[in-house]
Amino acid sequence: MITLLRFIRPYGWVLPALVVLSTAASLAEGLGIGLVIPALDALLGAEPGRPAGPFAELMQRVADQVGDRDPLLILGLLILALVVAKTFILVLEAVVSTAVNGRITRDLRMALYRQMLDVGMQFHARADQGSLINTLDVQTSRTSDALRALAVLISASCTVLVFSVILLMLSWQMALIVFITAVPVMLLVRTVSRRARARGDRYVRRHSDLAGQMLEMLSAMRTIRLFNQEEAEAARLTSTADAVRSSYVRAETLVRVMPATVEMLYLPVFIAVLTYALAADIPMSNVLVFLVLLYRLQNPLRRVDANRVNLANFAAGISRVEELLDRSDKPYLPPGRHRIQRLTDSVSFHRVTFRYHSGAEPAVRDVSFTIPRGSVFAIVGESGAGKSTLISLLCRFYDPSEGQVLVDGMDLRNIDTASWRERIAFAGQDAELMSGSIAWNIAFGDAAADRQAIRRAAALARAAEFIEELPDGYDTDVGLRGQRLSGGQRQRIALARALLREPDILILDEATNAVDSITESRIHETLDNLAGRLTIVVIAHRLLSVRRADRVMVMEAGEIAEEGPPGELERAGGALTRLYQAGALATGPAGEEPEEAGP
Ligand code: ADP
Repeated sequence: MITLLRFIRPYGWVLPALVVLSTAASLAEGLGIGLVIPALDALLGAEPGRPAGPFAELMQRVADQVGDRDPLLILGLLILALVVAKTFILVLEAVVSTAVNGRITRDLRMALYRQMLDVGMQFHARADQGSLINTLDVQTSRTSDALRALAVLISASCTVLVFSVILLMLSWQMALIVFITAVPVMLLVRTVSRRARARGDRYVRRHSDLAGQMLEMLSAMRTIRLFNQEEAEAARLTSTADAVRSSYVRAETLVRVMPATVEMLYLPVFIAVLTYALAADIPMSNVLVFLVLLYRLQNPLRRVDANRVNLANFAAGISRVEELLDRSDKPYLPPGRHRIQRLTDSVSFHRVTFRYHSGAEPAVRDVSFTIPRGSVFAIVGESGAGKSTLISLLCRFYDPSEGQVLVDGMDLRNIDTASWRERIAFAGQDAELMSGSIAWNIAFGDAAADRQAIRRAAALARAAEFIEELPDGYDTDVGLRGQRLSGGQRQRIALARALLREPDILILDEATNAVDSITESRIHETLDNLAGRLTIVVIAHRLLSVRRADRVMVMEAGEIAEEGPPGELERAGGALTRLYQAGALATGPAGEEPEEAGP
């Protein structure tokens, strides 16, 4: 609850306001019912017996003030006024608490989204997306429900308190009888609440399992079909869905069944009171009002019980939200102060070692190299050699575990991350587009980009050709994650997006492997033209790209095997040649360079 208090605090005034309003409403109701005592006495005309307690006396005194003329009418009007007042206060209370709940939930959502955007990439690398989505969406709503339950709990508790005091003042003996007979029922309710909490916990866990499995199924749709696994997948989902269903039924049935059962369990309480009243000769009007109040007490009592159970049920969801909001156990990259304007000299890695999490084998180990400004720098290596990790470090998704990444001699840690990312642009093999128009995707994050600039970038990336043939041209919606375009088209748009930023460093990760070979060689022409003006770092998978580079670095199992101009390395016949012979470097577009078919 501690983290959540942070969100409630700005609206702290609402808690005392709730208490005051509920107490006022309950007092109005209690007095309204209490005035029935003198009204009944007047109606029955008979000499009322001795009042059973101070409350009845008080009501009698109010009635005495009214005087003898039309006491029934005036008492009736008074009761009516109290009922109207109570309704008005309750409406006010509902409006205030709902509005505040809406705001708190909004704040909470925004804090969670902010957290996802701020937290270090290590967190996302390890996080289970299904359970994240579940927490961001479902559990946040449940937290809002919990807040509502809390408000109801407070207001119902005030009513219970006010009514209890009135009952005690009516007749403490009858109140005592009620108390003694009601305690066992309450204890029973408490035990069942505990069980409900455990069941709620289990339901939340099962539900997030299912969300994770669904996500996995959706992302592996092609593979599932190719391997004829539809039935197996359905069976797997069915068993999880069944587990969700049974845990839902167990949790929800308990919550639903409890109120009605509790009401029935309170029946003997009424009977005991009535028996005592008859024996002790308490005036009928007093007994009647006592029973009415007792009956009216059931509703708030039930709401207290139900919302205690509800709160217990929601606790699991709340703790998920809290875990996610907790900043103490998550990695953050402190942004540096120095704003960088341009890359003037070079980027270099100085004895960099990086582990994805403490205790793991380093993904790159003791790596040192320099990328001079304006050069084309190729990184090659088998899959898992650490190429992407180097790029992630260069983009400062992570900080090195040991060593430094230096930009013009300054540690990247001291450089303002946003200003650094403005200087770099990235286009990868799995182009991450987002739903929106092509123009919007190319201008991603650059609101000032005009159509002219977008067209220029698209032309450079050889994307203009296909975009202009689309019926909606640059306004074509690419669909969720760009699914309406082919892989090669997505890559070209991603490249245009990178070029539009006019970066100092262009990072390419197999950025053209899905593009047809003719277009690809045209793109390479573009890049050749750009070389010298900007620094290009490329994760190369083709000999062609390696040969275009000024320098090439061969990675093997997280370490640098060799580094130098490609011509020299090829002549030396070392790691680069081995890589090439092992088939890990393709010879470029089929048919273009047959003489390089390899030994
Ligand atoms: P490459 O890009 O050359 O294929 P990577 O840089 O992706 O290689 O991976 C280098 C090593 O780091 C591999 O052993 C890989 O398993 C590990 N690795 C990569 N990404 C993660 C991650 N998010 N969490 C943990 N280990 C990772």
